[in-house]
Amino acid sequence: MIEMVARDGPPEAMLCPAFICDACREQVVGSGNIYYRDRWVGDRRQSSPLFVSHKRCARAVEAILDVFYPQSDGWMDLCQEMRDFVKSLANNFTHAFADDTKGTYHNHDLVQPDGGIMPHFKNGPPGTD
Ligand SMILES: [Zn+2]
Repeated sequence: MIEMVARDGPPEAMLCPAFICDACREQVVGSGNIYYRDRWVGDRRQSSPLFVSHKRCARAVEAILDVFYPQSDGWMDLCQEMRDFVKSLANNFTHAFADDTKGTYHNHDLVQPDGGIMPHFKNGPPGTD
């Protein structure tokens, strides 16, 4: 997961966002994988949160995902190299989906590992689904 790690020492204490491997719980630096699973239930797309792994821990994270998002329930395994993910995230930080005239961004429900469903992401005017 992307987590806030507490740091003390000069010049001041702070909380530092970091990629933490979901298998070994160590920081991932420079290169790694971003995993998530995705499926369609009727006409609704569902997505897991993002999971993080070192390259060497990939199989262990896939095993974790198999517990909460089994492929036998229609979940598809998706993975992105961390460097590509960071580039896309930085781009989307300053570019609103609503301003993209070339594509359509689909609504989705975020399914937590405990099965809880977060209110779905909306990409459109209020009142649209
Ligand atoms: Zn690891």
